Amino acid sequence: MEQVDCVVVGAGVVGLAVARALAMAGREVIILDAAEAIGTETSSRNSEVIHAGIYYPANSLMARFCVTGRRRLYAFCAAKGVPHLNCGKLIVATNPQEDALLAGIKQRAEANGVEGMRVLTAAEAVALEPNLRCTSALLSPATGIVDSHAFMLALQGDAEHAGAVPVFFSPVLGGRVAGRGLEIDIGGADPMTLSCRLLVNSAGLHAPALATRLRGMPAERVPTAYYAKGNYFTLSGRSPFSRLIYPVPVPGGLGVHLTVDLGGQARFGPDVEWIDTIDYTVDPSRSDSFYAAVRKYWPGLQDGGLQPGYSGIRPKIVPQGVTGQDFVVQGPQTHGVAGLINLFGIESPGLTASLAIADHVLQVSRTES
Ligand SMILES: Cc1cc2nc3c(=O)[nH]c(=O)nc-3n(C[C@H](O)[C@H](O)[C@H](O)COP(=O)(O)OP(=O)(O)OC[C@H]3O[C@@H](n4cnc5c(N)ncnc54)[C@H](O)[C@@H]3O)c2cc1C
Repeated sequence: MEQVDCVVVGAGVVGLAVARALAMAGREVIILDAAEAIGTETSSRNSEVIHAGIYYPANSLMARFCVTGRRRLYAFCAAKGVPHLNCGKLIVATNPQEDALLAGIKQRAEANGVEGMRVLTAAEAVALEPNLRCTSALLSPATGIVDSHAFMLALQGDAEHAGAVPVFFSPVLGGRVAGRGLEIDIGGADPMTLSCRLLVNSAGLHAPALATRLRGMPAERVPTAYYAKGNYFTLSGRSPFSRLIYPVPVPGGLGVHLTVDLGGQARFGPDVEWIDTIDYTVDPSRSDSFYAAVRKYWPGLQDGGLQPGYSGIRPKIVPQGVTGQDFVVQGPQTHGVAGLINLFGIESPGLTASLAIADHVLQVSRTES
């Protein structure tokens, strides 16, 4: 049987960042992905926002990894020439009840270490964004956007430079605990079994399913997977705003917000649609709720201005109605399996946080395997 030091399952942004960190720390790494290329699932179906770290509960992994990951991401993009823009974001209140919520959002952000948050009057906000209608706003200067594919290519480049080897068309079917490591069964055109000392399960939406197919992994430690789809609608023509525009968050989501890509194209979303099976189709009739939500802060949106765009699916590990999901990084101290690290529930801000998640996985691999 072939032997390798580390196997990372999943060549999404998180798997690539983890593989890079392990390889740069001197470990032998193979990255296995079922698909034909890097980033074909959630990592290419998101808003590409570099989140500041505003909303997450203090001391949660999301809060910590978002803030440190964001700082590392800006530095990484600058050093590697990855296209990005620190464009800033406005959270806009459109009535007195929402005005009252902005101070609390600012306080939470500051507790998380987010820099430069500032409450603006309506006049100040409109001076920045003339097409906006609001009663007040909260400016987050640390927020930005990134070309997620260029970022993943740069991660892959670093990982390969440090000796990591990505292998595509290689679905990991399952495996078993074997001594102080694992044996894994790989399907595809050339099925094989591989033995490794460290297995990082970074399979995104499929991470819980993969964990249940690892014999020796305690079933009660594997969370149930739930899927919350986020649909986007794109705007024809150039964006009316240069910053990202978010409403005050609604229970369970950030509300229908506007993000801009590096080409200046605006899109609205993602909304929240709970689904049972993975299906990326965008139902055009969902645009009705988008028009109503967007016109609260942008009355200039014309009928027919929105086109169905794309969708992404949040890898949830809590069901609809339950809030407070955090990233889960499970090492041997949690599940008792030497040499196994599972990543569960890596939804937003996983892109922003990826470099910090990778540092953490490296640390877990050193202290626990
Ligand atoms: C709608 C939406 C919007 C978002 N917006 C943002 C945002 O603006 N900013 C931000 O920071 N974050 C955002 N996120 C979160 C971010 O996109 C994710 O956290 C991140 O992409 C997760 O990366 P990943 O590598 O864990 O998963 P994925 O990108 O899903 O990668 C998993 C990989 O594993 C592979 N795989 C799965 N099973 C197997 C198997 N058995 N064998 C081999 N390979 C396998 C898949 O082919 C895939 O390539 C958003 C998420 C969603 C859904």
